[in-house]
Amino acid sequence: METAKQTSFPDVTKFHGHVCPGTVIGYRAAKIATREFSSEKSVDEELVAIVENDSCSVDAIQVVTGCTFGKGNLIFKDHGKHVYTFINRKTGEALRISLKSSVDLEHMDPAWSQLRTKVTAGSATPEEEQDFRKRADRIAEKLMNMPEEDLFNVTHVEIADVPRKARIFRSVTCHKCGELVSEHRVRLKNGETVCIPCSVG
Ligand SMILES: [Zn+2]
Ligand SMILES: [Zn+2]
Repeated sequence: METAKQTSFPDVTKFHGHVCPGTVIGYRAAKIATREFSSEKSVDEELVAIVENDSCSVDAIQVVTGCTFGKGNLIFKDHGKHVYTFINRKTGEALRISLKSSVDLEHMDPAWSQLRTKVTAGSATPEEEQDFRKRADRIAEKLMNMPEEDLFNVTHVEIADVPRKARIFRSVTCHKCGELVSEHRVRLKNGETVCIPCSVG
């Protein structure tokens, strides 16, 4: 058994590669969950995280809580929202943490927002890129020091159907490409069992 160790923000940055507002949001949300459920690192998959975006913040969620895709206790819902729900499978307790609409990063620093567009498009000069990083650091620091109640709405919620533990499926061979595919993902094409890429190709 892994011993519970307190994850610090530098651990997140090491994993993610850079400091950004997103990882701070994820870090702080995950810290609320681990504090409320008094569990750091989900060793036995007792903690489940449902994330409603696939941005930088999710890397922080993974590092702090130990919820990962591989363990089957990180669930992604493509809603484009800064909403994180943590479920303690042992107790059935669930916590929904959503970023307050008043935390508007674009408004916090419009220049950062404009630079981000350039950096993402690959059209920023090295100076602009540097300026972007500096501004990102500043926003990140602001978010890190913001009182929790200014950052998130935290509510205890009921989860009707708690996601089950990772299930093991048998593998079968795809008729077309010959690669192994998990049984529950095969498709039927012309009466043959094929994998998803082969079924659409
Ligand atoms: Zn990032
Ligand atoms: Zn195939």
